[in-house]
Amino acid sequence: MKHFKYLAALLLVLCTNVCIISCGDDEDENTGTQEVPVETISESIVSVDVDNKEASIPASLVPEGGKAVLTATPSVKGDVVAMNIVGSYDVTKKKFVFDLTAFVPGVTYLCAISIYNLMGRPVKTISPLVISTANEAAVICPNAAHPHAINLDLPRGTRWACCNVGALYPEGYGYYFSWGIADGHDPLSTQGGYYFDRFTYKWYNGLTYTKYNSTDRLDKLEDQDNAAVKMMGQPWSMPTRNDIDELLGNTIHKWITLNDVNGVLLTSKINGQSIFLPAAGNYEGIAIKELGRFGYYWASTRLGSDLRYADQLNIGPGYPLRDSFWRYYGCSVRAVIH
Ligand SMILES: [Zn+2]
Repeated sequence: MKHFKYLAALLLVLCTNVCIISCGDDEDENTGTQEVPVETISESIVSVDVDNKEASIPASLVPEGGKAVLTATPSVKGDVVAMNIVGSYDVTKKKFVFDLTAFVPGVTYLCAISIYNLMGRPVKTISPLVISTANEAAVICPNAAHPHAINLDLPRGTRWACCNVGALYPEGYGYYFSWGIADGHDPLSTQGGYYFDRFTYKWYNGLTYTKYNSTDRLDKLEDQDNAAVKMMGQPWSMPTRNDIDELLGNTIHKWITLNDVNGVLLTSKINGQSIFLPAAGNYEGIAIKELGRFGYYWASTRLGSDLRYADQLNIGPGYPLRDSFWRYYGCSVRAVIH
């Protein structure tokens, strides 16, 4: 008898669920309405004011009678708690404002903003959104003992160095390398007479490319030609084009100035940790170009068909992307550990 009661209760629960599900479907069929997909909006529309401890979005994003909720999950484990913050409409600013005073100083939060209509149905989402209450220099490294292998919790386990090969801290430009030449040139000292040109390039004889060409079919640098292996030692190495794709696919980017140096801060969507890539420019001949405006970072891999180019991670205001560049140019290297 007792078992029968449980069974009846279980059936009741199951039936209720079925009813709720089917009723919902009926409603859609009757009214002819379809499930409206939730629109995803770029995080760049969010204004974050860490000093005043508030974030805001334009009021026009929120439907009449709707609401906006910011969910914040701390990237550190321990006492810091996750929270939901309901936005309130600020008449003067014509914005929905989220009060961040409950954020713990020095912590990075992985956030999302969900926007609901009058019926309480989600219509828009802004995600991922990373809000850090620490200053950016402190976010990047745990201490001053550079280089660090920064764990961004990337899916393939790749860790990225906190600073360029030849640099002593994250915003340092470091050395400049032609692709496949493991000896770097420091513009402040040994750069001197070095001329980054196709005709001084070690793997070009004036007519053809003598290594990493269509004869040897090498499309990845050997260790002795790998600047990170040579200058930092294993397990450090140069990133492959897949490592660059992995990095770009799992981070958000922000153009910042770190201690007076322009560059891109890449912050993990997974754990909130960051690396900074300075806009170190590049060398052609003896002239540095685009310093403070763009950055050119070699991969260990070379584009298949065109011998003249090798893969790169490029940065500039508003973007990082994977591209390719002339092998003889003088560019930066940021090492990884696989
Ligand atoms: Zn570091």
